[in-house]
Amino acid sequence: MGKKKAALPDWDGIVKALEKWRKAAQADEALEDNGALKDNGPTADSGDPSVTTVAERYRRDPWAVLASTILSLRTKDEVTLVRSEALLKKAPTAETLLALPVEEIEKLIYPVGFYRTKAQNLKKIAAIIMENHQGQVPADMDLLLAMPGVGRKTANLVLTEAFDMDGICVDIHVHRITNRLGVLRTGNRSVQSKTPEETEMILREILPKKYWKRINMLLVLYGQRICRPISPFCSRCVMPEHCGRVGVERNR
Ligand code: SF4
Repeated sequence: MGKKKAALPDWDGIVKALEKWRKAAQADEALEDNGALKDNGPTADSGDPSVTTVAERYRRDPWAVLASTILSLRTKDEVTLVRSEALLKKAPTAETLLALPVEEIEKLIYPVGFYRTKAQNLKKIAAIIMENHQGQVPADMDLLLAMPGVGRKTANLVLTEAFDMDGICVDIHVHRITNRLGVLRTGNRSVQSKTPEETEMILREILPKKYWKRINMLLVLYGQRICRPISPFCSRCVMPEHCGRVGVERNR
């Protein structure tokens, strides 16, 4: 008898459950805020990545998206949003940032995480953009990855948010939850992945393209509220029938 094949993940069911939950969570927040339902779109408070908010406010300007993505790493959403706006007011283009001394960039972005390193990286990135790319952020994964401080998560966010290209932004939440669900697979075998990069490569093979951009936004909020890193709230989960609880030792 052959080995048992892993069941195909029900992506439609998973995404539907997450979207329904998200809408309900946002409606609850709106009621708490104003005593009435409202739809202000994504905000930093709603749990959407602050970069998405910046992208919308700056009409998907690639420099604004790239700069705020750099600031967002290891930084709280609300800090990223405020410091991105302060930075972009003074340096709305790579050219204007290049003209600023590093010390001034540090002051503008403080207290984002690793602000000193980020100030230096921003300056180097601005120089690369001016010298090699005619002042424009390149819409190319490899060219973005060649910039200091730019990893796959940053490059994917820039490509999807600024250029409306296909990409899957895998952060710790997407990595953790897809592993717990047991949906990662190569061929017809279930696998676990060790890093967000590995998870991204697997998802590029198995996740329907129509969900590539939405999966991050859905799983980040879910990971912050329900499928928490330590002891997830499985009793409140909206997709228990889709989850193998792989590696979950303790839950609430
Ligand atoms: S059942 Fe638990 S581990 Fe699985 S997705 Fe839901 S909260 Fe996460």
